[in-house]
Amino acid sequence: MRVREAEGTEVPANAAPGILTIDTGAIRLNYRKLKALAAMEVGAVVKADAYGLGAETVVDALVAEGCTHFFVAHLFEALRLRSAKSHSIRLFVLNGLQPGGEAICAQEGIVPVLNSLDQLTRWSAVAEDLDRPLPAVLQFDTGMSRLGIPVADAARAASLLERARIELLFVMSHLSSADEAGNVQNSEQLRAMEAVSEALPGRPVCFANSGGILLGAAYHKQIVRSGIALYGGAPNSDATSAMHPVVCLDVAVVQTRTVRAGTRIGYGGTLVAEQDMHLATIAAGYADGLPRTLSGRGAVYFNGKRLPMVGRISMDSIIVDITEIGEAGLRPSDMVEVIGPRQTLDALATAAGTISYEILTGLGDRFHRRYR
Ligand SMILES: *Cc1c(COP(=O)(O)O)cnc(C)c1O
Repeated sequence: MRVREAEGTEVPANAAPGILTIDTGAIRLNYRKLKALAAMEVGAVVKADAYGLGAETVVDALVAEGCTHFFVAHLFEALRLRSAKSHSIRLFVLNGLQPGGEAICAQEGIVPVLNSLDQLTRWSAVAEDLDRPLPAVLQFDTGMSRLGIPVADAARAASLLERARIELLFVMSHLSSADEAGNVQNSEQLRAMEAVSEALPGRPVCFANSGGILLGAAYHKQIVRSGIALYGGAPNSDATSAMHPVVCLDVAVVQTRTVRAGTRIGYGGTLVAEQDMHLATIAAGYADGLPRTLSGRGAVYFNGKRLPMVGRISMDSIIVDITEIGEAGLRPSDMVEVIGPRQTLDALATAAGTISYEILTGLGDRFHRRYR
């Protein structure tokens, strides 16, 4: 395996700054696990290049598991997948129908999630112009105040639909707090969704994201949309071991050194060695998606040993304390574990003060990607 550089020069993978291993088999196992949780259609959310893991590869892996519904955020993401993938999959655009996107959306058979009555009216006008029904999803805002038609407008949406040449595939909404099983907003949103169903009787409902699936059968409805659980992230705080891990990140050591007590370490000299220390510099930093908030808090692992990050995280490198194993214990080009069996994706995210989603979508393209 080789890393391709701009001019076509190739660098052997073992000289790459880091290796991001993506286990497509684990993604497939996670898909099966979600299917087993409830007998419903499981759609996959592959926005942001499948949370940074490579949308085309992820779609292929999930199609092999029988997945047919794929959700992206933007029309251009759907168009990219449409041109790369067979027309037997359905592509849905969660962020809605932007003015100007209607014609290409219709032409490519992409399904817009209509987030306002205006979008519904415009899509209906396109169907009239083309003189054929167009597929769509209607999203309602059941309490997140982000995207969707207000629940109070459900009856108006229903009457507009009666006159429109729109093939409504399902109605949907999104939970704001599905990762917190005890949050009352979940049941409030569920009740609001059921009010939508009363105004639009008989329409299939798509409600739960990954966390929502774990909230129980009442949340499953006819179709669910899963993202993070497929990619190995914990869908809620009680389920840390529920999904199969998908991503491993190993980063190369580029230099080791020994410093005397009193030596300053890293940008700003924020850390002063209290004793003689052995240090290693590894080849990834905040430009690769390892947030600066890991400074003084994060760690990497080598041969089962925890090696704390010391000083500030740099753009392209991080200094770690290897005093425990010594300079002889770690050599340039050895790989240390940043995400893997010793440190889950969620553990790294917690150390950085963020969530698994932000870590995954931020992992940079300077790492060599290896699919398994
Ligand atoms: C991103 C997103 C999802 C996926 O959520 P996960 O928590 O990753 O399962 C589902 N639905 C909508 C509307 C989203 O924006």
